[in-house]
Amino acid sequence: MTPSTDRNETLFERAKRVIPGGVNSPVRAFRAVGGTPRFVQRAQGAYFWDANDRRYIDYIGSWGPMILGHGHPTVVAAVQKAVTEGFSFGAPTEREIELAEEILKHVPSMEMVRLVSSGTEAGMSAIRLARGATGRSKIMKFEGCYHGHADALLVKAGSGLATFGNPTSAGVPAEVVQHTLVLEYNNVQQLEEAFALHGKELACLMIEPIAGNMNFVRASVPFMQRCRELCTQYGALLVFDEVMTGFRVALGSAQSVYAQAIPGFKPDITVLGKVIGGGMPLAAFGGPRTLMEQMAPLGPVYQAGTLSGNPVATACGLATLREISKPGFFEALSRKTRSLVEGLKTAAAAEGVAFSADCQGGMFGFFLMSELPQNYATVMKTDSPRFNTLFHGLLDRGVYIAPALYEAGFVSAAHSEEDIAQTVAAAREVFKLLAK
Ligand SMILES: *Cc1c(COP(=O)(O)O)cnc(C)c1O
Repeated sequence: MTPSTDRNETLFERAKRVIPGGVNSPVRAFRAVGGTPRFVQRAQGAYFWDANDRRYIDYIGSWGPMILGHGHPTVVAAVQKAVTEGFSFGAPTEREIELAEEILKHVPSMEMVRLVSSGTEAGMSAIRLARGATGRSKIMKFEGCYHGHADALLVKAGSGLATFGNPTSAGVPAEVVQHTLVLEYNNVQQLEEAFALHGKELACLMIEPIAGNMNFVRASVPFMQRCRELCTQYGALLVFDEVMTGFRVALGSAQSVYAQAIPGFKPDITVLGKVIGGGMPLAAFGGPRTLMEQMAPLGPVYQAGTLSGNPVATACGLATLREISKPGFFEALSRKTRSLVEGLKTAAAAEGVAFSADCQGGMFGFFLMSELPQNYATVMKTDSPRFNTLFHGLLDRGVYIAPALYEAGFVSAAHSEEDIAQTVAAAREVFKLLAK
């Protein structure tokens, strides 16, 4: 056999010898869509180049963080300066205060915030805080929402409302998920029944307000309103997992979108990640002062991290947040994302392909079905062979979208009108194939 001239293939073979599946996070492996993952060589603006030096328009943006595009000069300069001042100290820095202040300024439901290194860590700590503050053990989540890979959250629904969840991963003992109740997203009746049964034992309800881990599914306003009311009524905390939506769908995050529809609306605890690190390992959780003062060293809820509030990561996050809080930033980003979504819809309609799409700020999702799904079961009815045709068709035409049909997409400030037009033109060619 002659050695491959495709460097992505060569690298993938080499990676598989030393890294399980050749990747350090499963979805990167292209298992859902088939084919060879693209190994990224470098990235700039709205593009990255693979190991064959082929350019792609990037709609993943590191799964959300790269809201300014790759290599934004101001962010690069901030990181370069930070690096020369020191990588990590294990002692507090002024920049951590600055980043905390910048986050709190835009998300008024939070009065205090703790910085950590990953969304998983932030979500896990938020649950510990909710349990510590309420003295209760049970937690509620929704099918299709991803909150990181902490043991208690790797769970699927049990056989009925009275039964709690079953682990979705080997290595998670049934006992560890016995306190996790999994419900259907956007199902008000089931929510009410579950609260009637378990509300008094519930520490928190955790939700992705716009679920980006089942592509793009919004919690309906009436559903969200009931989540808030029932949490308040039963003394459970409403935990907003905004790791993906935070500073991505609006400067005030998804909670500001719901506050427009529900006067006075706010969650109790907010979990952030992705954009607030600007591409560096950084995440956070926060809430009212009384709640956050339950955290060590002030309170009894333990939580810690060697690299928490890392000086290089905070420099990157801070520079990113300062750029995106400039006047007009989100208006321009939203317009661009909207034009992509509308362009795709028009192209699909022109070719007679069943298609629906939605977006908020710089986040979007689309489905090869005529109506937007409201829950995970419906998302999963999407025909995956057709999605795979779309994925590879776009990839062949230099457009990189998420390699799985249950993932959202992201537009950055670096995407130009021309990039969007090229993407829509590529999609139209693939829709033509799908229509046959
Ligand atoms: C990405 C994500 C996480 C996990 O964050 P990591 O940094 O990958 O650990 C948690 N919740 C949501 C909603 C996410 O999108």
